[in-house]
Amino acid sequence: MTDKKEMNMDNNKIRPVVCVSRCLGFDHCRWNGDTINDSFVNLLKDYVDFITVCPETDIGLGIPRNPVRLTRGGSEGEVRMIQPATEEDCTIRMREFSHRELDKIDRIDGFLLKNASPSCGINNIKLYASAEKGSMIGKTSGMFAAVAQEKYPHAAFEDEGRLHNFVLRENWLINIFTIARFRELNKASKISVLYDFHARHKYLFMSNSHNKMQAMGHILANHDKMNLTEIFQEYEKGLMELLALHTSIPRRINVLMHMFGYFSKELNPEERQYFLNILEEYRRGSMPFIVPIELIRNWALRFNTEYILNQIILEPYPKELLLLSDSGSGRNIKR
Ligand code: SF4
Repeated sequence: MTDKKEMNMDNNKIRPVVCVSRCLGFDHCRWNGDTINDSFVNLLKDYVDFITVCPETDIGLGIPRNPVRLTRGGSEGEVRMIQPATEEDCTIRMREFSHRELDKIDRIDGFLLKNASPSCGINNIKLYASAEKGSMIGKTSGMFAAVAQEKYPHAAFEDEGRLHNFVLRENWLINIFTIARFRELNKASKISVLYDFHARHKYLFMSNSHNKMQAMGHILANHDKMNLTEIFQEYEKGLMELLALHTSIPRRINVLMHMFGYFSKELNPEERQYFLNILEEYRRGSMPFIVPIELIRNWALRFNTEYILNQIILEPYPKELLLLSDSGSGRNIKR
């Protein structure tokens, strides 16, 4: 078992690798020469390693440039990227660039892309019947983002617009840091580190899916007599499926009750009732998760409950990234 000093050191060392749209504060590369100053992206710079990309300038469209749009002639037709002002078809250049750039990356934990862009937008990008003015016929992914999602189906994808929402941002942070912790572990290639990883993530994983967490435990039990590489591969598959599910308030309450069980007998009736009241407020959405989790941490310190103190759910990403000040309206949003 890793002691808590070591765990904290690990958390501080982990730096997820994130591919980010360059116009999000890294360069003035938007079609009109602008950049977007996003305070969360600025904050992240101290905690993640960014790989920046601007597909449109990188294929030579220039700054400033005429906008591009995505078109599809007929329901079975291929999606194409056209620049209406010049009638230039950029499809092949954009596809080749996307494959080439993404092939160069040997490790990626997440993507943070500009929303509403025909190149970078993850989804909901307007699709037209032709380059001429006309009505929209549907929605699709931006061309670079589509290739990225195809190549890295398990990376954590978000756009900067959705990350203004507290819940979506927290899910994304949990996922990029968990994937990054797993990648670090993979280098060690020892089954013991995988056991330890699973034990320390128990309550975090349980808050996404109890069944998936148990299935990952069965992989570690290795009844099928797999070799180490196969165990890591199967475990990774299970991990990615689990992270794709995200958490929910009822599942988190279930986890908090499990953790509470470690010391409830040591507490007086008023303390127990206080915790249950906090949980009720959390269930109603009027209290953030950090409040009950800090109570648990406090009791784990008081009763020296090492197993709980080692749980990643107490701090799944650097606490400096926990911004509670925005998006109250989106706190309960579902994907
Ligand atoms: S959205 Fe993508 S292509 Fe457009 S300016 Fe930003 S980085 Fe470049």
